[in-house]
Formats: sequence, C-alpha cells, structure tokens
Amino acid sequence: MKLSYGRDLFLTPGPSVIPDRVLNAMHRAAPNIYDGPLIDMVDRILEQLREVAQTGGQPSIYIANGHGAWEASLANIAAPGDRVLTLATGTFGLGYAETARKMGIAVELLDFGTKNGFDPQVVEDALRADKARHIKAVISVQTDTSTSVNNDIAALRGVLDACGHPALLVVDCIASLGCERFEMDAWGVDVMVAACQKGLMTPPGMAFTFHNEKAAEVAAGVEKTSPYWDWEPRVNGEYFYQKFGGTPPTHLLYGLAEALKMIVEEEGINHVWARHRHQARAIWAAVDVWGQKGALRCHVPDPADRSTAVTTLVSDTYDLSLLRAWCADTAGLTLGMAIGPIWADRDKAMRIGHMGHMNPPMLLGALATIDAGLKALNIPHGSGALEAASAILAR
Ligand SMILES: *Cc1c(COP(=O)(O)O)cnc(C)c1O
Repeated sequence: MKLSYGRDLFLTPGPSVIPDRVLNAMHRAAPNIYDGPLIDMVDRILEQLREVAQTGGQPSIYIANGHGAWEASLANIAAPGDRVLTLATGTFGLGYAETARKMGIAVELLDFGTKNGFDPQVVEDALRADKARHIKAVISVQTDTSTSVNNDIAALRGVLDACGHPALLVVDCIASLGCERFEMDAWGVDVMVAACQKGLMTPPGMAFTFHNEKAAEVAAGVEKTSPYWDWEPRVNGEYFYQKFGGTPPTHLLYGLAEALKMIVEEEGINHVWARHRHQARAIWAAVDVWGQKGALRCHVPDPADRSTAVTTLVSDTYDLSLLRAWCADTAGLTLGMAIGPIWADRDKAMRIGHMGHMNPPMLLGALATIDAGLKALNIPHGSGALEAASAILAR
C-alpha cells in the first residue's frame, strides 16, 4: 500500500536536508549589494566559515558548485605543466585529478580503491621518489561521498612532514565540512575546498576555498589565467563586489548566514562533529544487524575508515535499487544511488546521506523505513536493527 502522504524525507548525500529556518531566511526582497547590512553579514559569514574550518586562513566564496571549488583551488596554486600528486578513494578523488589534468596540470594519481583510506607508505614512497621536489601539491579528499571512505588528513600531514616535502597539502572537504572533525590549521592543511549544500545545509550554488599564508605565497608565484577563480581580489580587493567577482549570491548568503548561526552560535562545531559520529554509529549498528541474516553490509569494512556524513551500503545478492524504489515510492524516503567506481554494481549498492540537519526521529524513521522495505521485498535480514540503533543513540 502506498503510504507516502506525509512530509518526504530526502537522505541523499547532497544536497542535504535544508532546515526550514534556512529556507525562510532566504524568503525576502533583494538587498542593496553596495552598502548596508549585507556587507556586515558577509564579514560575519567569513568569520564563521573560519570557525567551521578551524582556521585563521582566508576563505573565498565563489558562485559555483564543488566542481568549481576544485577548479578555483587549482587555478590559484598550479599553472599548466606543474605537477601534483592526487590521492583517490572514490569518484571525487578521481574527479579532482581529472579536473587538474584538463587544466594542463601534470597529475600523478594514487588510487587506493574504494574500501579504505589511503596507505601512508604508498604516499611516502611517491614523495620520497620526487627527489627534485617537482610535486607542488598533494591533493586529497577527506570524505569521498561515492564510497563513504573517510581519510585521515592529520596522518597525511605526518607523511609530508616525515619526508620533509614542501608540497602544499590540499583537501576536499565538500562532503565533510560541518560533519566530520576537521582542523585546518592544527592539521597543517594549506588549501581546503568546500561547498554549501552538504554539511552546511544551504541550497547548492556556493563553493569555498580556504588558504593559508604558505598557499598565498605559492599563489603569488603562479601566473593566473583566470580572473574569476583568482582568490587574491576576493580576499584583498578594495571593493566589496570583488569578494564575489561581481554580484554576490544574495539569497544563498542569507541562507548560509542562518545555517552558520545554527552550527557555530547555537550548536557549536565540536558538538556538530560529535552528533554526526554518534548518529553514524547508530546507522552502522543497524546495518550490522541487517547483515547478520542477509547480504546487506557497509561498503567500508573498517569503521575507522568510514565517513560520519554518508554510508554506502552494498549487497552481494539483492537488488538494492528495488529497495530504494520501495522506500521512495511507497514510503516517501529518498536515498542515494550508487555513483562512481561502484556504479558498475549500482543495483547492489545505495547510499544514506546523514550530513547536516538530522536528528533521531529522522534517523530512526529512515532506518525503520528501510527495515520495512526489506520485509516488503522479502530480502533476508537480521531482526533488531532498530533496537541496535536506538541503543546507540541512548548512550
Ligand atoms: C559532492 C562532492 C563533490 C562535487 O560537488 P558538486 O557540488 O556536485 O560539484 C566533490 N567532492 C566531494 C567529496 C563531494 O562530496
């Protein structure tokens, strides 16, 4: 029986759930973009973005999506012919590398597959082999949203330090900023890229780069070919419009200001990280129980390598696209489909987004709906998944 006559729940890993408060903050007339409250609000946004990223470095805002953030970061730190080392644990690491390649940058790609974080030894070997220090940047992804692998960025800093390699450390936090612990300055990250539509709970349309002093020095030596991506006028420009290379994304900024108020002023970034971890554990506990009598499991075997923002589920035997379809059509719960390297097995994989605006009623509602779907489709599964999840939440 079709039951989807309430409020739909979209737990796709981006765009994530947009809080009503964020939507409502956007519902207003156009502001003056030359003078007045918008200017102050942008200053506050930049300050709070620093807090979310745990950095004293410089954030820049672009009207773009995550792919734009990749290009923005690369356009500032590398010219055609320069060399970068890219670490991939899913489609987004591969995509960052491909963007660099198309920009004429020489890319050395280390592909670590889809089930675990990068191998420090392999990275160390690649850096030590670069005796002439040609590698300008090591590019990595904290959470690869396709596979739900999470990489240990502090450990990556350790590898660069152990080799004494001067390359910039660049991290894609598009999926993980505002979800997963990330400490840009403490971890020695030189450039970080993000976007507004995942952990930051704002409709898609804004991309961010963050860079430190070391990255600014490197950028000063790069011959820029793109005025739009150049972060220098956005950070140091004389006029407000230069912060956006033109008209600011006014209504997205109102939304983001409200989201940052929720994250930074009300909840606190440390609590945001802890909440994501707590709720992710509840999801994994449910999946473990389902897996006891069936073929459903987390794609990433070791919890230490799992993202707390998105979980990729796989089955060896059952068609999970049917389960996704049941959840969406019969119950009103939209889950993420497989993308990237696991697309080949797309009927055997699906993703749950648990980034940003999510509480136990949403989480348990989603798990209970999946549980009902497993029953409806006669997919064998262990029983007691909700017990396991609620026991974790209650801790
Ligand atoms: C979503 C995502 C991207 C791409 O962002 P778009 O806004 O779709 O361009 C890149 N990297 C990661 C880790 C992502 O999760």
